[in-house]
Amino acid sequence: RNLTKHFPVNLGIITDKPKTIKAVDGVSFKIHKGETFGLVGESGCGKSTTGNLILRLLPATSGEVLLNGVNIQNYREKEFRKLRKDLQIIFQNSSCALDPKMTIEDILSEPLLIHKIVPRMEISKEVNRLLQLVGLSSLAAKKFPHEFSGGQKQRIGIAKALSTRPKFILCDEPVSSLDVSIQSQILNLMGDLQKEYSLTYLFIAHGLNVVRHVSSRVGVMYLGKIVEIGDVEQIYNNPRHPYTQALISAFLEPDLEYKRDRVILKGEIPSPINRPKGCAFHPRCHKAMDICKEKEPLLAEIEEGYSVSCFLNECN
Ligand code: SF4
Ligand code: MG
Repeated sequence: RNLTKHFPVNLGIITDKPKTIKAVDGVSFKIHKGETFGLVGESGCGKSTTGNLILRLLPATSGEVLLNGVNIQNYREKEFRKLRKDLQIIFQNSSCALDPKMTIEDILSEPLLIHKIVPRMEISKEVNRLLQLVGLSSLAAKKFPHEFSGGQKQRIGIAKALSTRPKFILCDEPVSSLDVSIQSQILNLMGDLQKEYSLTYLFIAHGLNVVRHVSSRVGVMYLGKIVEIGDVEQIYNNPRHPYTQALISAFLEPDLEYKRDRVILKGEIPSPINRPKGCAFHPRCHKAMDICKEKEPLLAEIEEGYSVSCFLNECN
């Protein structure tokens, strides 16, 4: 609720007021138990930072993270550590998350030992069970990360995340670095595991195509803010925000109700240091009006559970 992360920046020049980057600027959304909530936007929009704030991998500047109604941002480190096993992460590139000097057995044993998931004597058995869960043979246990393909490493990353029997998993672009054919295998595996273990996912991706197939609700981020949020089918079939319209038009699928001419986004995402005045999207917006350069639209709920921040909707 209202999550904010401001980074001070040193531009190497002396100014009266130190500059800050508002990487995440007042972001609020709910994730329901057992669902997959998709968070999308171009790189640099603040989606990974939002995920990292939720898991407290980064301290928030302000705002709250409520877990079953309890603000876990206030927890002391010691209290929070007990929660860590419930809140796990799958990274985009598991190669970076797997220590190249450790065998897979050691990698998977570590969280089992730290969080005392099973008695020491049963660790080996548990490692084999985890490998099986993600579709790998027990022979994988004695190997090192470099002996596996990208897709297999991602399976190991998933096994590691599952090892502590979590309730919530932050999936930060978990398939972005994989070939399309492997992507669907990994997504299917994640879907099966979600059903089996009642997992809740926050699924971060830069494109909307993958998110469409896995999420029940979606939030679209632009320059540190959510600009549109709602049920996946609402967003895909009738996107209201011009930015979402542009993102969706980039991958027209045959079964998509929303069929419009391709909207090409003008220019690059601006630097968050120089956030455009008014609606931050106006320099790239194909529907921008005069008011958009002056005033910032609010994220307003236009239907139950559906909000958008754009002057083209009646609530702004
Ligand atoms: Fe475009 Fe204006 Fe809507 Fe912003 S408020 S998205 S600039 S039409
Ligand atoms: Mg990222």
